[in-house]
Amino acid sequence: MPFTQRSAAVDAFLMSEPGSFIDGKAVRGTAGETIVVIDPATEEELASIEAAGAKEVDAAVAAARRSFDDRRWRGLAPQARRDILWKLGDLIAARANELAELDVLDNGMPLAFAKWEMSACTEWLRHFAGQAAQIHGINASAALSGGGTDIHAYTSVQPVGVAALIVPWNAPTGNMMIKLAPALATGCSVIIKPAEETPLTSTIIAQLCLEAGVPEGVVNVVVGTGREAGARLAAHPGVDKVSFTGSTATGKAIVAAAAGNLKRVTLELGGKSPVIVCDDADLDLAIPAVANAIFANSGQICFAGSRLFVHSRVYDKVIEGVAEFAKGLKIGNGFDPSTNLGPLISGKQRDQVTRYLESGRTSGGQIVTGGTAPTGPGFFVEPTVFANVAQDREIAREEIFGPVLVATPFDDLDVVVGLANDTRYGLGSGVFTRDVNKVHWLAGRIDAGNVWVNTYGITHPAMPFGGMKESGWGREMSSDVLDAYTEKKSVFVALSSPVGQ
Ligand code: NAD
Repeated sequence: MPFTQRSAAVDAFLMSEPGSFIDGKAVRGTAGETIVVIDPATEEELASIEAAGAKEVDAAVAAARRSFDDRRWRGLAPQARRDILWKLGDLIAARANELAELDVLDNGMPLAFAKWEMSACTEWLRHFAGQAAQIHGINASAALSGGGTDIHAYTSVQPVGVAALIVPWNAPTGNMMIKLAPALATGCSVIIKPAEETPLTSTIIAQLCLEAGVPEGVVNVVVGTGREAGARLAAHPGVDKVSFTGSTATGKAIVAAAAGNLKRVTLELGGKSPVIVCDDADLDLAIPAVANAIFANSGQICFAGSRLFVHSRVYDKVIEGVAEFAKGLKIGNGFDPSTNLGPLISGKQRDQVTRYLESGRTSGGQIVTGGTAPTGPGFFVEPTVFANVAQDREIAREEIFGPVLVATPFDDLDVVVGLANDTRYGLGSGVFTRDVNKVHWLAGRIDAGNVWVNTYGITHPAMPFGGMKESGWGREMSSDVLDAYTEKKSVFVALSSPVGQ
């Protein structure tokens, strides 16, 4: 029996024919294509949106450019931007249930996860609201002056300009806000391009921006395909910066498209993140953490811990424990409070993951638990553990983006570092040990932007988040992200003696 509990506000929104949002107004797309938004848990059609095409992308870029050039947002006192972003956080908190329900509907995630996502959005807005009033340059005059020459040398910091925020479907509102909050804090004007699968909350967020006091034209949304709207934004001469989260293949296409005007690009891409469990680890802590590292959000997390390396002395116990944990996870509709794992985003993604399951089987992987995709409705896949997989196999090397863990034993720390780093990715990593020496030795040697020790997946707006190697360029969060949305100007003023004045 499908769960259909959702609030009247959500039904009213779905009936309202959502679309794009440009220069403060709702806009219908004219690409001549329809984006059909599907509930991946029931396969019910939720909304049918006329896709934005070249005309809407150009209008959104023009609106953002006007608002940037006339300084209606970037020219406000930083304290005013701070207060508006704080109010936006309040407005999102007030609508959190409705926004969370929409993410459950179009993404399939469990409601508790979606509610956490909304509280994180408010938290990030408040963090970057505070940052808005603290952005400043440096004064290096002392380094240049003396010996009869006085130079007043300082940096002035200004927003990078019009930023395109291209967002994936796996945490639609969170992945949008992680970009929008620092972009607005620094004074940029933006065009948001949500994923085709999950556009529902984006126009509400744009309307809430207006309600909070962000002027018209500063936050625009184009609901279009990646192929047309996304690609046009990436290549657009009126866009100064692209911030992208999604697949490595699309990230590379964006880099190529961005070369036309050498726009600034930051990329948060895929991963095949290693988790190492040493023989001295607290297994009661490690086993559920290892399982959640891969199975949370049905494995559709960029930093999912999808490769598990366990010391051979505790290997059997850990694999058995993780398999038992997986068997206890209930797959279902995100509105059912007993659901631990929702569906995958689409039939295409489910088929891709089942193809990897087949590839794992035929390449000699031993399935300890899971391994099948229940028949629909809904795009569900069982949480799956493969043991003893050779490292050159497809399932050990490629990002599956589903609830599939590949486990391998090890005996030697030097060897396991080599295995952990034998990947084109470098986003997340996990280490479980009670030995503080091993903690720092391993943290220093694993090539990943994030190392979680005796935990997995913590993020915080004060800490940079991003990847090495083909997992991306640059960092989200922290002061690093403020650098990514600003330009620094070095100003040198030669001072002469005011003789006789
Ligand atoms: P994708 O990277 O193609 O899509 C992400 C976003 O980019 C969407 O908004 C899409 O419309 C847009 N896009 C697509 N092509 C574009 C282009 N040429 N120019 C500009 N924008 C473009 O991801 P997908 O096809 O939806 O999923 C494929 C795989 O990507 C998944 O199986 C998974 O492995 C990976 N993925 C990773 C993340 C992550 O967080 N790292 C998120 C989603 C998907």
